[in-house]
Amino acid sequence: MSDPMNISDGTVVEFHYTLTDQDGETLDTSTGQEPLAYLHGASNIVPGLERQLTGHSIGDRFEAAVPPEEAYGELTGEGPQAVPRAGFPEDVELAPGMSFQGQGDDGETCVVWIVAVEGEQVLIDLNHPLAGMHLNFDVEVVTVRAATQEEIDHGHPHIHGQPHP
Ligand code: ZN
Repeated sequence: MSDPMNISDGTVVEFHYTLTDQDGETLDTSTGQEPLAYLHGASNIVPGLERQLTGHSIGDRFEAAVPPEEAYGELTGEGPQAVPRAGFPEDVELAPGMSFQGQGDDGETCVVWIVAVEGEQVLIDLNHPLAGMHLNFDVEVVTVRAATQEEIDHGHPHIHGQPHP
């Protein structure tokens, strides 16, 4: 047996996590599902979590506190804006938390997040739903292995031979 591999750039990592906010509310968890897989060093996950996973190895459990600037950013802009439902694809059922590519006042591309759907009006915001939040990840590392050249070329992991675009 060789020593367990440590997480570093060019490794594919699978981990279980429970994400809580600063009040201890659970926001998301992989419990009961497949672990989350990512390619380390390819910005697949928020920077603060990726940084704190560095050097860990299989079986490690730890908590990672991640401030907004290393997660989804500080809150910016003027708050939610109401726009017509007609501006969104007809065949998509809109729901809070969905993101769309939009166009800013200067014609530049931006991402908008749906906050609420109220009849023919949709409330959108430029902030990710988790922007401005201090996040806490309870992490358990499940696997660590060297990435294949194809994974490094693509910038993401290929798990269980799953096809992807
Ligand atoms: Zn790929």
